[in-house]
Amino acid sequence: MTKIRCHCGSPKNFNECCEPIISGIEKATTALDLMRSRYSAYATYAAEYLLATTYISQRQYYTRSEILKWATSNQWLQLEIIQVTENTVEFKAYFLDSKQQKQIHHESSTFKLKNGSWFYVGGNFFD
Ligand SMILES: [Zn+2]
Repeated sequence: MTKIRCHCGSPKNFNECCEPIISGIEKATTALDLMRSRYSAYATYAAEYLLATTYISQRQYYTRSEILKWATSNQWLQLEIIQVTENTVEFKAYFLDSKQQKQIHHESSTFKLKNGSWFYVGGNFFD
């Protein structure tokens, strides 16, 4: 257990915020919690968790190696939540790419609750 501030930007420590969700001890109870935990999963290279929380019909479009490559080639700086509804989260993820250039990934993600668990379905991307 690591006593560092959570990657997702909450004031809690990682071990009291996203880490128990990523490790499966706790469940994300809202779409926003799932979104935050998935951002933290990118920051900690938890590719298995990212696949497992992708909605089953969408999982074929992702591979563990591609997720890991995207996660590790960038340096994740900050998550900014823009707008939240029950099943969507608009956010900006700030990161440094492999050339150390500051980038912003701006997305509105859609989530689905199935059998008591939240899943990532997909996203609309902004320029
Ligand atoms: Zn967190």
